[in-house]
Order: sequence, then structure tokens, then C-alpha cells
Amino acid sequence: MDLRDGIIMEKRLQIFIDSGDTIIDEGTEVRDEKGIVVHAGLIPGADEMLKTLSERGFRMALVADGEQQSFANVYRENGLGYCFATRTISEIVGVQKPSEHMFQDAMAKNGLTEADKGRIIMVGNNIRKDVAGANRFGITSVLLDWSPRYNMVPQCEDEKPDFIIHHPIELIQLAEALEHKLEEHEQ
Ligand SMILES: [Mg+2]
Repeated sequence: MDLRDGIIMEKRLQIFIDSGDTIIDEGTEVRDEKGIVVHAGLIPGADEMLKTLSERGFRMALVADGEQQSFANVYRENGLGYCFATRTISEIVGVQKPSEHMFQDAMAKNGLTEADKGRIIMVGNNIRKDVAGANRFGITSVLLDWSPRYNMVPQCEDEKPDFIIHHPIELIQLAEALEHKLEEHEQ
């Protein structure tokens, strides 16, 4: 834990993060008759990644497409809901990624403005929604290339990620490296 004068220092880097096939293994999802996810397992290492980043003072915002109740069920089940400072969910916003409204909602909920875009990353498994959405919005894109269910080959310039990781756990090191760059830039 990053402690200075007994206070956990909040990091400069702001992490927007997707859920399905970024944290939750979509292959394990069980849905009820209304299509709401009632059970789902985690991608190996996602648990440690979220807990570690949270402990180290990284602020994380869930930015995900789906139903509010699905996310409530899943993150209650795995006990990781506390890791998200805010939740931006398409059912509530009214549009899905790559719509800029999803990213704008997350910025507003975290008190971030245009001037903060340089310190925001969007982490996700979907090049069309997460990567292209982030790139067009002007924030840094991180592709988690883990899922066997999605095409990870960019079809256009917008779909090319700034960074690629292959396991959730790798996000810890990347976040620390980006945080370090931001600190250096400030001095
Ligand atoms: Mg996803």
C-alpha cells in the first residue's frame, strides 16, 4: 500500500475498465429467463488485479455494456464491487460503447474534465467498443487480448490499441509504469 503520512495516496492515472471478458469470463455466465446474469466466474488473475490496484490507490470506474442487475449480481457474488469508485452501465446511460456518452458519463461521475483525458486509460477486450471508443474519445486504449470469443485483429486505425496485455494481472505493471510517466511529466 502506498502510504504517505498514513494516508493512501490516490494515483494520477484513472482506470476505466470493462467487465465481460475483461474481468468476468463470459464463458461461465449463467442467465435467468430475463437474460440477467445470475452467476459468473472470473478470468484467472482478475481478482488479484482489481484488489491490488485498489489497494495501491488506483481509482477504477466500471464502464460496461449490459444490465445494471447483472453487474450487481456478479460483483456481489465475487465480492469485488468495492474496487469500483463508480459504475457506468449502458442500460442506465441509454447507449452502448463505443458511444462517447459512456466515457463522458464515467468522466463526469469521477469529476474529470477534458484536461484530464491524458491520464485516463480504458481497458477492455473489444476492439470495436473499448479500443475504438477510447481512441476516438481521446483517452488511452488498453486491449486485454485474452478472450477466445472476440476478434482482436484491428480492422481500421481506430481499432488499434495503444497497449496490449494478455492477462489481467499484467495491468498492474502497466498501470504503475503509466503512473510513473505521469509523475515524471509533472516534475
Ligand atoms: Mg467486454
